[in-house]
Amino acid sequence: SAGEYEAVVLFDGDPNRFRGKGMLKAVGNVNTEIAEALVGKDAGELRAIDEALVALDGTPNKARLGGNAVLSVSLAVARALAHSQRLPVFQLLKEQYQLPERPNRLPYPMMVILEGGRHADNSTDFQEYLVVPEGAPSVHEGVRWGVEVMMALKDILKKEHLSTNVGNEGAFAPAGIASNELPLELITAAIEVAGFVPGKDVYIAMDPASSEVFDEGMYRLPKDGKALNSQEMIDLFLSWVEKYPFISLEDVLDENDWEHWPELTAKLREKNVLSIGDDLTVTNVQRLKQAIDQQAISGLLVKYNQVASLSETIDAMVLANKNDIATIVSHRGGGETNGTFMIDLAVAAGARYVKVGPTRGERVGKYNRLIAIEQLLAQPGA
Ligand code: PGA
Ligand code: ZN
Repeated sequence: SAGEYEAVVLFDGDPNRFRGKGMLKAVGNVNTEIAEALVGKDAGELRAIDEALVALDGTPNKARLGGNAVLSVSLAVARALAHSQRLPVFQLLKEQYQLPERPNRLPYPMMVILEGGRHADNSTDFQEYLVVPEGAPSVHEGVRWGVEVMMALKDILKKEHLSTNVGNEGAFAPAGIASNELPLELITAAIEVAGFVPGKDVYIAMDPASSEVFDEGMYRLPKDGKALNSQEMIDLFLSWVEKYPFISLEDVLDENDWEHWPELTAKLREKNVLSIGDDLTVTNVQRLKQAIDQQAISGLLVKYNQVASLSETIDAMVLANKNDIATIVSHRGGGETNGTFMIDLAVAAGARYVKVGPTRGERVGKYNRLIAIEQLLAQPGA
């Protein structure tokens, strides 16, 4: 569900290679222009490297060299520097960007366990239903709790004769499920079956990714046979917040529906539910500033390829933290890699959550990295 305001991914557009999705142009830019600008430069200051990359590209959205070209170099330099200084990446980032001491808790899992929208065929209209093991005593216990809820959900889906195949993010994608609300009932039941207390041990979250269902002023929900205006969307989600143990909601409204976001966020705040911007804010400091001015959000989703450099991503996180906006570092639905850099970023910048699906290797690897960091920090003298 790429937001309209994300950095540009440069594709070759040659229909005879990967149906136009080849990236030889972006790789070419790394090997020529970017290499010429960076080879010989001191890598000791990551911000200077990123500033050089942003200036070289020269567009507001990395459209010339490609966000894919710029971000890959930005992250590679950071990784190389950490390697040469023999520091874990999160430690290097803390030093490089002078990030304040980590909060008393590592980022906790925000686990996608049922998905639909653009991430699956014929599942819910809404994109993600998640669980948050807020009451867990540690990250590794939290990961286990989330996975056990997912296992319980599997049994429940089977009983309901629904598919337990998984979608893009490794969450169940039950084709033919009857409504957009039913997953909330099933997940609440799964939390209990797994032996946890909903709203105390484990909470529910959702990312409807509403820009994807917004068309000509209305939010279109074919699964429920409904089209809702902004006010009706706010009311629908507030009614669900009354019925189910929610802790956060993301992109309840469209990325251009600035007018209604402040009301949504204020009402969710009264219920202690985060109102997270993703497509609305696209990890972009300018859009985040607008959201802060309008009190449009209380949480910021962070995906570094939305803005396509490490330094700009960290600037957005620091600005959010200063304004009491929780940060949530997230995987991507499509094209996610085996890399785990996002976890080190989340730890370094004090994110409240990491949003990652619980199955499929490219997701599991991220939880493994988070648990490894937890173990590392638990060592004496860490
Ligand atoms: P995306 O999904 O990568 O498809 O945007 C993740 C999200 O919307 O949070
Ligand atoms: Zn989202």
